[in-house]
Amino acid sequence: MASNSAKSAPKKEAEELNFFKNASALFEKAADHLTLEAGVRTVMKTPDREVTVAIPVVRDNGKLDVFTGYRVQHSFVRGPAKGGIRYDRHVNLDEVRALAALMTWKCAVVDIPFGGAKGGVVCDPRELSQRELEAITRRYTSSILDVIGPDRDVPAPDVGTNEQTMAWLMDTYAMHVRSASTAVVTGKPIALGGSRGRTEATGRGVMLVTREALKRHKMATKGQRIVVQGSGNVGGIGARLLMEAGHKILSISDMYGAIYDKKGLDMVDVLAYLSKHKKLTGYPKAEALSHEEALELECDVLVPAAIENQITLSNVDRIKTKLIVEGANGPTTPQAHKRLEERGIPSVPDILSNAGGVTVSYFEWVQDRQQYFWSEEEVNRRLEEVLVRSFHDVVDTAQTHKTDYRTAAFILAIGRVVSVYRMRGIFA
Ligand code: NAD
Repeated sequence: MASNSAKSAPKKEAEELNFFKNASALFEKAADHLTLEAGVRTVMKTPDREVTVAIPVVRDNGKLDVFTGYRVQHSFVRGPAKGGIRYDRHVNLDEVRALAALMTWKCAVVDIPFGGAKGGVVCDPRELSQRELEAITRRYTSSILDVIGPDRDVPAPDVGTNEQTMAWLMDTYAMHVRSASTAVVTGKPIALGGSRGRTEATGRGVMLVTREALKRHKMATKGQRIVVQGSGNVGGIGARLLMEAGHKILSISDMYGAIYDKKGLDMVDVLAYLSKHKKLTGYPKAEALSHEEALELECDVLVPAAIENQITLSNVDRIKTKLIVEGANGPTTPQAHKRLEERGIPSVPDILSNAGGVTVSYFEWVQDRQQYFWSEEEVNRRLEEVLVRSFHDVVDTAQTHKTDYRTAAFILAIGRVVSVYRMRGIFA
């Protein structure tokens, strides 16, 4: 008996952390609420198209290496597919499939006219030179060229890719189609048709959704004690904007550890230190904490904005917050989420609270197509409009279906995709 449970414990843990399985479980729960029939469930779960490509590249040392690239286009039902490209040594087809489906639901939650996609190349960008990265990006782009385009599928940056990667992708596409088709990709440099406000968009969205959730839960919209995990594009910018909105950032972390000040951190100073030293370690004006200590601090709002699977069955009972706003994708496992609900701690789910990025990507695509560019104020005003409306759509759905915000966000999203699918009918 004892040896059996000892053996099954790690297996159980691995099951809890399986991203693909977790995404499927969320889908099924929402589909049950919508009483979707089996056939439609299968259509909604099955990616429209999956492309796997071989990417031969001559390395700097003269050797020829072949990398593997994926592009999974989950859905075109509501518009062109949309989703990032990830360069990471652990990328695999199951992960890309799950992320592509999540993009479909994320675009539908905020009601922007896109489907969902995701791409990936199995490589470690930190081990590649700029020339090698450019060669991989251009060959990958030319291999998926037939299935992308402003009306087909519009990629964007993700883990391991950035503005430069998008500029190479856009240029490769432009060379092939013989036109400067800037709308083929978002997350580009502003000089190349990028949008003002895109860099801050996801963090700004986290700040806006936090404000709406505080109002909804009758908590003050200033002066809350907030713990943020992750100090990158989402966590760092989100924490600064939350501080500027009048909250106290008790703690923020990066992959090396966390810092803490019970009087509240000066996020402008912290981010200046981070940009100079590349890590928070050694920040002189705060106390150092471990990752666990930071995540388990007593606070009013917890914002996990680093990586997936951070709140799990192994630590959920030590989380001491009143509200969770998910900046990262998948920071809470479904099992931990269930436990948080039992404990009365609401979570604003990732597909809503980090949708600011894809919303401004949509604005970038619109601006590129019009060749008319908006001011940052205009971008921020429209972003606020979309996120406030979407937050209330999710709250209304939660009330109608007597469920939590996460399930409600999936019900809303899947319901929107299914309704368009039924209107369009099945092409045979
Ligand atoms: P990033 O690479 O800019 O930052 C990630 C941060 O997390 C870094 O500070 C890193 O040091 C930190 N980190 C890594 N491991 C950690 C750990 N164990 N504990 C604490 N901190 C840790 O990435 P990002 O763009 O900020 O993305 C963060 C998350 O948000 C990811 O899940 C990403 O998929 C999601 N997301 C990002 C965007 C966007 O527009 N950037 C949009 C939607 C979702």
